[in-house]
Amino acid sequence: MRNWRMSLARFMYGRYGLDKLYYALLIAYVIIMIPGMIFQLRIIYWIGNALLIYMFFRVFSRNIYKRQQENYRFTKAWSRFTDFRTHVYHTCPNCHATLRFPRKAGKFPVVCPKCSHHFNIRNWL
Ligand SMILES: [Zn+2]
Repeated sequence: MRNWRMSLARFMYGRYGLDKLYYALLIAYVIIMIPGMIFQLRIIYWIGNALLIYMFFRVFSRNIYKRQQENYRFTKAWSRFTDFRTHVYHTCPNCHATLRFPRKAGKFPVVCPKCSHHFNIRNWL
């Protein structure tokens, strides 16, 4: 058992491993495969297999920087999806940085933390 763990650790050395995108793909895989198994749809079966291959490709990949960038883009999009009820996003007109504000109706003066540009934002509820 210990020897098996050591050989797995040696195999995974320098490889990317698991992250949030992996778990999201795993959940998507399970959600996709349930109707695929019930209705015996071959296209869903192939989409699920492609998803599985991509998941394992990411786990065993040695290009860690690229996998981290993918995970960063995913977590950024996911956080925008999950907090759309509580926050709004605006772009700074000067430096085009994406800024996050609490969702309140009205017009507010703001200062960009990146370039210190003063501008107004208008939030609609
Ligand atoms: Zn700015």
